Amino acid sequence: MRTSATAIILACTLITACSPKIPAQSATEPADVVFVNGAVYTMDVNRSWATAVAVRDDKIVYVGFDDGVAALQGAETRVVDLDGKMLMPSFQDVHIHPMESGKQALTVNLAGMRTIKDYVAAVKAYADANPDEAWILGGGWSMDVFGPGARTSKKLLDAVVPDRPVFLTSSDGHTGWANSKALEAAGIDQDTQDPASGIVDRDAETGEIIGSLQEGAMELLTPYIPPSSPEFDQRGLKYSVDLLNSYGITAITDAWVLRPTLEAYRALDDRDELTLRVVASLWWERTLGLEQILDFKELRSEFTRGNVNAGTVKIMQDGVLENYTGALSEPYFVDGLPTGIPMVDPEFLKTAVTALDAEGFQVHFHAIGDAAITQCLDAVEAAIGANGNAHRRHHISHLQLIHPNDLPRFRELDVVANFQPLWAYADEYVTDLTIPFIGEERANWMYSIRSVINAGGMIAFGSDWFVSTANPFPQIETAVTRTDAEADDAPFMPHETIDLATALAAFTINSAYVNGIEDVSGSVSVGKLADLIVLDRNLFEIPAKEISETKVLLTLFGGKPVHGDLL
Ligand SMILES: [Zn+2]
Repeated sequence: MRTSATAIILACTLITACSPKIPAQSATEPADVVFVNGAVYTMDVNRSWATAVAVRDDKIVYVGFDDGVAALQGAETRVVDLDGKMLMPSFQDVHIHPMESGKQALTVNLAGMRTIKDYVAAVKAYADANPDEAWILGGGWSMDVFGPGARTSKKLLDAVVPDRPVFLTSSDGHTGWANSKALEAAGIDQDTQDPASGIVDRDAETGEIIGSLQEGAMELLTPYIPPSSPEFDQRGLKYSVDLLNSYGITAITDAWVLRPTLEAYRALDDRDELTLRVVASLWWERTLGLEQILDFKELRSEFTRGNVNAGTVKIMQDGVLENYTGALSEPYFVDGLPTGIPMVDPEFLKTAVTALDAEGFQVHFHAIGDAAITQCLDAVEAAIGANGNAHRRHHISHLQLIHPNDLPRFRELDVVANFQPLWAYADEYVTDLTIPFIGEERANWMYSIRSVINAGGMIAFGSDWFVSTANPFPQIETAVTRTDAEADDAPFMPHETIDLATALAAFTINSAYVNGIEDVSGSVSVGKLADLIVLDRNLFEIPAKEISETKVLLTLFGGKPVHGDLL
């Protein structure tokens, strides 16, 4: 039963993806812009190539060859000679944190630095340059710089900022680094108990709190941070919109949204500055129950307008492996043999997902460990059992350790596997902070992208920026090579590589499916929105190790250039 339901929805997707939508007479009206002499990778169902595309207003009105497009060239038509360059549908990133990333880029931004000394120097420089800021905030530090367990020290920050609170989140957002003033402001001291969903790290000998807050323990502090102003939210978001457009991205799933984020999107959209189609994942508060669904319904109806769709709910089901909070079915190989932290009780998760599904919400899960992934799949199975399969396009992000038994369930349950492909190589997070603590057998399950496809599942890609770069090209290179896009390392689990066409689909038409907009975007097809990019090289004609160097020359959002100029 489930298999045939999957087949039906896939067929529907394919049919909508290729059906022309323009009225017949429009074929003879001149186009606004005509691209000729290109290598047009259409991403249509046949993955066919063309040389010419015509755009009128915000839509594609012709896809084919140079001689065929001549009929659409009027006196006012702009003709762009692509000179053999590659044109393709723009990217859609289905797990990203634009507003937080933009704000981080505008405050203490430690991303890319590789030593504690550099981190501390950057904090000092920012604090000195901003004497009026009450709290010094930012993030982007890398857990592996601090070694196993990622235990940061308040003393390092106290040495450079003794008089004001400092709070810096790790690059993956799962650990907070606080100085003494910040801990003091939040009333966190020796007597503070660990919350159920996190850990206040302490010195093993003295028991003193060290300034490292894992997962839910950050929530002991964050309420004391002065709220960011709507103006700063909008500045951060605008920074990100421009950056994402420059990477060829025109649609996203924002993976964590509260009301202020929705208000920032609304403000930009009202000023015509939101040149992104946004699916906003409303944050499931794990300390609350089903009553929050009422709030979600209100937010959905209040904010779904223009370029924003607030019809998704994000449920975070576990933490991460590096700090032993990712939920595993068998213990970590560390003292005390912990099995991680399921954030939502698995039985209640079934109830919650069933209720959300019944109310028409798509559920976007965060699941890293195999137990958390199983729990999310079980919850979707329960929802389908209760409600029937309404094809809500539920998806699970991260998927670091999928138990082999769960591989076929993505297809069976219509759950899209939302991978962050940049993570699928052997960096220090994998070799030093993960494999020693989970063992070789489970290490073989890591980021099993090809295995999900082989089992019939659909994959889609998201960057999880600020955790890692939002630039799709290094991510595509790693998906194709399972190596570091910036090094010549050996492939990590090379049997899990995928081909270029599959990787591009995961970032375009499949992500459009997750975003619920595959009938209007995600491929270069007549009738669809002209969300298009032109690249400086043809991805299919270069060595895989050069993919990450690709630059986007032009991004069109609904026919309008939002990065670069018409060539
Ligand atoms: Zn995320």
